[in-house]
Amino acid sequence: MPHLKRLIATGLVAAATVLGATTWAQAADQEVNLYSYRQPFLIKPLLDAFTKETGIKVNVVFAKKGMLEKIKAAGDNSPADAVLTVDIGRLYALKEAGVLQAIKSDTLEKNIPAHFRDPEGMWFGLTSRARVALVSKERVKPGELTSYEDLTDPKFKGRICIRSGKNAYNVALIASMIAHHGEEGAEKWLRGVKANLARKPQGNDRAQAKAVYEGVCDIAITNNYYMGKMMTNDEKPEQKKWAAAVRLTYLNQGDRGNHMNVSGAAVTKSAKHKDGAVKLIEFLSGDAAQKIYAEDNQEYPVKPGVPYSKIVQSWGDFKGDTLSLEKIAKLRPAASRLVDKVGFDEGPGS
Ligand code: FE
Repeated sequence: MPHLKRLIATGLVAAATVLGATTWAQAADQEVNLYSYRQPFLIKPLLDAFTKETGIKVNVVFAKKGMLEKIKAAGDNSPADAVLTVDIGRLYALKEAGVLQAIKSDTLEKNIPAHFRDPEGMWFGLTSRARVALVSKERVKPGELTSYEDLTDPKFKGRICIRSGKNAYNVALIASMIAHHGEEGAEKWLRGVKANLARKPQGNDRAQAKAVYEGVCDIAITNNYYMGKMMTNDEKPEQKKWAAAVRLTYLNQGDRGNHMNVSGAAVTKSAKHKDGAVKLIEFLSGDAAQKIYAEDNQEYPVKPGVPYSKIVQSWGDFKGDTLSLEKIAKLRPAASRLVDKVGFDEGPGS
């Protein structure tokens, strides 16, 4: 093949041969193996659109847990070319484990704002999500809670519900508090939030909204898209009631903006179909895919200018914190230690 390439470069082969070489080059990247934490319902339409546009087939393995371990254990023999996952914690763990490779792509740099991707090109955010407050429509007036810092106000004593401090979404939020207030400031804040909890941290994000609906607390800290999922949940219509009881409130709109996290993708070091993997991630960062993401999961497109879903628009415009997720990732261990140090998961009054 090198010989043929040289011939093509020097223009010494007939057009028919050049065409043959092109076909060969495409065949080598006719498929991509993808490990995905993201659910089939969400990514299937995206992958179908990709295959339709490029002719590249995507083989997906849906992983609930242990994706990193699998890739690590297989080493160079890992079949995974690309990974798709949620939360900066998981993306950064893959990077730290040394199983990713740096990608340089003008398309990705153009489509994805710098704070939502790795400075070395190891991972790329594809959607962003806001960690917001869902407040009781009845018991919290508009403007009463405006910032994460407000959560420590004694007026909210016994009124806040949140899942475990060790949950990845909360670890990232606490890491952002360290970035903005230093470790001591963040510790003081976390103690203040703990003192205001209505109960021991428990359940998932939606369970916090349910607790507001049931009157257990007045403020739930959750990711924005869960609100959208509850609002539209025909299979479990009781969740529509939970959503109807709360008002989605973006925090820190007067200063740094609401804390943001991402779902994202990366190319593995051992990728056998690197070109296809890069093309796939580029496609997912493009207008068509970003629109599907926005509509199907009520997340925010990372690509500027792609419209939010109608539901997301109904919550109004907002300002997101542009703190780099790389910084947040680096502060995660310290955040996790703080959770233990203040005994956050033991709940109030301990
Ligand atoms: Fe989630």
